[in-house]
Amino acid sequence: MLKLLTLFDLKSKRVLIRVDFNVPLVDGRVADDFRISAVLPTIKHCLSEGASVVLMSHLGRPNGQNNPDMSLIPAGEKLAELLEMPIKFSDNCVSSDARDVSLGLKPGEIHLLENLRFHDDETKNDKRFSYQLSKHGDIYINDAFGTAHRAHASNVGVVEYFSKKGMGFQIEKELQFLNSVTRNPQRPLTLILGGAKIGGKLELINTFIHEADSILIGGGMAFTFLKAKGLDVGASIVDDSIIEIAGNILIQAKKRKVELLFPTDFLVAENIDKPKDRECVECDHIPSSKMGLDIGPETVQIFSDIIHSSGTVIWNGPMGVFEKPEFKDGSQGIAQAMAKASHEGVITVVGGGDTASAVKQFGLHNDMSHVSTGGGASLELLSGNQLPGLFALEQ
Ligand code: AMP
Repeated sequence: MLKLLTLFDLKSKRVLIRVDFNVPLVDGRVADDFRISAVLPTIKHCLSEGASVVLMSHLGRPNGQNNPDMSLIPAGEKLAELLEMPIKFSDNCVSSDARDVSLGLKPGEIHLLENLRFHDDETKNDKRFSYQLSKHGDIYINDAFGTAHRAHASNVGVVEYFSKKGMGFQIEKELQFLNSVTRNPQRPLTLILGGAKIGGKLELINTFIHEADSILIGGGMAFTFLKAKGLDVGASIVDDSIIEIAGNILIQAKKRKVELLFPTDFLVAENIDKPKDRECVECDHIPSSKMGLDIGPETVQIFSDIIHSSGTVIWNGPMGVFEKPEFKDGSQGIAQAMAKASHEGVITVVGGGDTASAVKQFGLHNDMSHVSTGGGASLELLSGNQLPGLFALEQ
């Protein structure tokens, strides 16, 4: 069974915590501290119980190379600012100096280790690297939900060296929400999917075809389905390798009487970067030279009505190229409908990654029942798969 950190006596112990400080950086500063704020309750609990804390995380994909652009120093500065206290930092997560700093920590002190992925042993789940990491703590806590779907040294290999190991409050919160919406959802259950890549979401669709009452598909992935239905989607993105699978999903949905809805209108343009010729068209009138880059207002209205009549709504993947102001309205409309529905008692869950960024960009993240910190991990969990990072903690 997964243990919560409150089950351990933390007094005078060194708690090694795997956190998710994989935050966006702009000009060497943290642009969004969502993931850092999310683990503050776990860190504060350890400190208030008289423990010292060693934090380890990855940031970006430095591919085993020391890359100053992906240093965790800005994350450490942000953490120090949020906690209003100094934080010790080591520039190599497994050096003997770093280990000495951890061994010398006094209760109430924090030591942040440099980016784990500056060593490719992290993603290889290397045994010796895991052992070296384990030397930083007496107790191991994982509170990095965003990497729980990966089997790496800092969340899987390291665990075998601890008799006392468990999860922090952030993972507990993620599991509470994501498990409750799949195991015992308040009905009707609606799944909204979007984004560009369809491949990573097929498993989720296959799971929810058995569970959901409605599945609404927007974003770039809608065009593969529309093409499978025989529509001309112009120059919109299509994954031709998945057309047949998409066709089967349409048949399955019909058999299972799941409402599977696609946009009825789109904002289209010839070029994402030159959207001057942007226009709104019906889904069966996409000009051959143009691509669909957002859902249209009629679709926002139809999807919003379904959101309001749902008991639970899970949303993963933006409805359009929300990073561009010209194509953000669809995603913003859906976020607004979800925010309003939350206040009316609908359980609203936003599944990590780009969708979480979009909701944050619209200033609506506090209006949702839950915004997941992990895109891939939330998709895996919602698809019914075991997460290696959590499985390891149960052994
Ligand atoms: P994904 O990682 O598959 O969830 O995709 C997220 C990305 O999908 C975002 O960066 C959006 O800009 C992009 N996206 C959403 N809708 C479209 C679309 N209609 N055409 C191209 N890209 C899109």
